[in-house]
Amino acid sequence: MNSADGEKFWDGILAAYGEIALKSDRVRGRFVSKLKSNIREAFAARGLDVRVRHRWSRILVDGLDDIDLGCRVASRIFGLKYIAPYRYVGLNDLESFMRDNASKLLDGVESFAVRVRRTGMHSFTSRDLERSVGGIVKEVSGIRVDLDNPDRTIYVEVHDSECYVYTDRVEAPGGLPLGASSRVVSLVSGGIDSPVATWLMMKRGCPVTMLFAYFPFGGDESDLRRFLAVARILRDWHIGEEIRVYSYRHDNALKEIRRLADGYTCVLCRRMMYRVACRVAEMEGAKAIVTGENLAQVASQTLDNLYVVDEASTLPVLRPLIGFEKEDSVRMARMIGTYEASTMPVSSGCRPIKGCWARPRKPTTRAIFDRVRELESMIDVDRLVGEALSSLRDLSNLL
Ligand code: ATP
Ligand code: MG
Repeated sequence: MNSADGEKFWDGILAAYGEIALKSDRVRGRFVSKLKSNIREAFAARGLDVRVRHRWSRILVDGLDDIDLGCRVASRIFGLKYIAPYRYVGLNDLESFMRDNASKLLDGVESFAVRVRRTGMHSFTSRDLERSVGGIVKEVSGIRVDLDNPDRTIYVEVHDSECYVYTDRVEAPGGLPLGASSRVVSLVSGGIDSPVATWLMMKRGCPVTMLFAYFPFGGDESDLRRFLAVARILRDWHIGEEIRVYSYRHDNALKEIRRLADGYTCVLCRRMMYRVACRVAEMEGAKAIVTGENLAQVASQTLDNLYVVDEASTLPVLRPLIGFEKEDSVRMARMIGTYEASTMPVSSGCRPIKGCWARPRKPTTRAIFDRVRELESMIDVDRLVGEALSSLRDLSNLL
């Protein structure tokens, strides 16, 4: 919002963090300083040099010419719950500020409410201030008060003698600042689920190394292109830490597995991916691997199968979507922005592939260990893992 004479109305952006506030002082201090440095980096990446301050439990970003752009940038920072363009007003000037600006703050609305949040020693309560500010605004603007369902809320945050006034809260992703947790290796296919799983781990503070198992049908590269398109979108959320992206060739292993395993193909294929992911995790200093599996959503992801598959991993396997339904993943993928890229047709020649080309007609839903061991004794697992690792390709420069 700009004033009629084109002068900038808002002073900067006020950002609220969510879960960080619940941490002990020591942990909160560390997380807030990481959060601030991530915010600075997000703006620096766009050539913007901003000032980032922590005031009480808020973060203030100043020095922005384009507040809308600033909100868009800040709305992608993990750890922030919401952000709002704010105007600074001294407590003694609050009344006159409201008289002068009520109509501007309520431009185009028919009802309003005032909400006050207060820290410090004052001779009035938050309710007192809500009533007095509400009274002035109503008198000046002629707009009615509606506490239950206002068209617009005027928020006033009072800290000692400082007031921060804002009206629009833009949602941010919440969670923890990226880098607050250890790195994970995420198995990303480029389909709908695994990018969402990856994003959810980023939201818990984990920097991510993405690993794509490449097994093209014929020579077609469309699934690699789809993966890269998805990786680029996730990169734009991955602010404050280095994102790393690798692919490896999975076709040799898959061809051998498919030849002998039939209904066990998916189970053995997945075990092979986990092994490679664990070795990459070792190189990367990552502490877990991540997948987009959901319990029993497809035949290969029954609990019996996950039990057998897990055993191939030396690290915890995190599955943030375990209780999701497809609709949940789709909704989140749309919000994150990966949905369109994930639903790009993946084709080979003129034939679009529905699902995986190596999928057996009847994948087992009840894998048993003895059978898995028997089948794996017929292939040279170590050699296949070694070949996979020597085909590892760093794709970071393609993003
Ligand atoms: P997605 O939507 O992520 O492709 P999905 O519901 O299609 O998942 P599967 O194809 O059974 O389910 O894959 C389960 C998980 O295995 C994926 O979420 C992903 O973590 C991993 N995965 C599958 N294919 C690949 C691949 N080509 N490269 C890397 N990881 C993969
Ligand atoms: Mg898939």
